[in-house]
Amino acid sequence: MSSGSTSPLNKDYRDNHMSDSGQFIPVADANLGERERRYLLEAFDSGRISGSGPFVDRFETAFANFIGVRHGVACANGTIAIHLLLAAMDIGPGDEVIVPSLTYIATANAVTYCGATPVFADSDPDSWNMSATTIAPLITSRTRAIVVVPLYGNPVDMDPIMTLARKHNLLVVEDAAEAHGATYKGKRVGTLADAATFSFYGNKLMTTGEGGMVVTDNSELAERLQLLRGQGMDPKRRYWFPVIGYNYRLTNLQCAIGLAQLERLDTFIETRKRLAQQYQTALGEIDGVAFQRERAPGESVWWMFSALLPDEESRDRVADSLAAEGVETRPLFFPLHTLPPYQGDGVHCPNAEALAAAGLNLPSGHHVSDPVIKRIQHLIADTLS
Ligand SMILES: *Cc1c(COP(=O)(O)O)cnc(C)c1O
Repeated sequence: MSSGSTSPLNKDYRDNHMSDSGQFIPVADANLGERERRYLLEAFDSGRISGSGPFVDRFETAFANFIGVRHGVACANGTIAIHLLLAAMDIGPGDEVIVPSLTYIATANAVTYCGATPVFADSDPDSWNMSATTIAPLITSRTRAIVVVPLYGNPVDMDPIMTLARKHNLLVVEDAAEAHGATYKGKRVGTLADAATFSFYGNKLMTTGEGGMVVTDNSELAERLQLLRGQGMDPKRRYWFPVIGYNYRLTNLQCAIGLAQLERLDTFIETRKRLAQQYQTALGEIDGVAFQRERAPGESVWWMFSALLPDEESRDRVADSLAAEGVETRPLFFPLHTLPPYQGDGVHCPNAEALAAAGLNLPSGHHVSDPVIKRIQHLIADTLS
């Protein structure tokens, strides 16, 4: 979820959005500290500033270990991670790839970059994720793969999807850009399919500024990912290019920040889980407010806590009254099948459409204090009363 030109850290933006009552509360805020600074300077001082170096290796290994897979392949961002993976899986023209409609546009764009066609699945109204039930009717003779998205950190119910996929001989990929550390049946999200991708954008659970990673247990696939990430150059023969690859590398500088963030990730996740509890307690008392639910046997990391208001009109009123008090919010993603590049005749995802119309992302992260939650609670209650 790129924030574009209105970075919450931009001073002019802050000044223009400051309320009388105090501080501006952005919807997300990176948590960078001394450790990030120290590792970054170490990388800088070493002179290894491009897309290879000790921090790249350490970050890849440590992240793969954290997730619980054999291989991690760092790359320039989370969008590229999906493209690199689908390209390594030879997804191409004529192929159909099933993706949720309710996700960030990168999920579908990566499919399009391959020349393949994204096919949009509806969401479950409770978990907000797509399910085997919404995927099954979309499978055709052209379907090659499914990209699942644990939306806002909420794990997808994978077992029925994997059973369905195996029956039809389909590849399954997790776009886990929002779900670092989430679990399903005691395993981490990112280990549940053929491979998975993560994003380290500035507003994600952990960040490298821009960045991403593909993780997999499949050694052959990992080799192919490394080959394509590095322009397609033969690892044993310099400037020999057996295939057309990409320059999709992540720098040693960014991986230094990433390693520091990873070493603090457990505390970031604890903060998000505690915040979700507090929001549910505070907002649960208000009539007409509902939340995303953990429906799969696992635990969400609650990357972006979101409220569901009674309808679009009340959602917009709540967003306006919070904005007037300096509290930034975001609407949920527009369902992709309603956006100009992906509007298709006859595509309907009624649950995704209803969620998108009434849902609102609330400020999530270490910067959201108890008094801020109280303020948000009172503002929402007043607006709806
Ligand atoms: C953030 C995000 C991405 C893209 O990541 P970038 O690092 O911004 O390219 C892809 N998919 C989902 C679901 C995301 O939230």
